[in-house]
Amino acid sequence: MAYKFCSNCGNALPITRDAFAAQTCAQCGRTQYHNSRPCAGALIVRDGRVLLVKRAVEPYKDCWDIPGGFLEAGEHPLDGMMREVREETGLEVRVLGLLGAYIDRYVFQGEEFFTLSAYYVVEPMGGQLRAQDDVNEFAWFALDALPDAIAFEHPHAVLRDLRAWVR
Ligand SMILES: [Zn+2]
Repeated sequence: MAYKFCSNCGNALPITRDAFAAQTCAQCGRTQYHNSRPCAGALIVRDGRVLLVKRAVEPYKDCWDIPGGFLEAGEHPLDGMMREVREETGLEVRVLGLLGAYIDRYVFQGEEFFTLSAYYVVEPMGGQLRAQDDVNEFAWFALDALPDAIAFEHPHAVLRDLRAWVR
């Protein structure tokens, strides 16, 4: 969504018709961009089933979600995926392949932006499955019996592509 003030000099920025258009400050000339925010996630598969986590926090609290999250500054998607999997599930995983990259829109507490998520297909290698962080429940789902209440829009496409990837 459009920024109200310049991050460089604090001057008020012009309102743009497209909320995601770049905004150039009339006072100092600095341009503010609205790039998609990078995320990474993991399709943890075992015996033809995928591990989903139930979100303990907004947005989409109590909906099923693919383990993952926002990348830190300078973090490679592979490292971010491993970190999020460890934080949310306690598992260590091995990468089987890169499924793809997916765009979505994220709206929370009045802020709206785009996300760009890299998804890896992985399998558990160790660790102990335990709920923590912003997760309150796990379940292994057969790929043809996924839950209806899935968080966000893009995971529907991710899970559809996973079914094709596994075949
Ligand atoms: Zn400025």
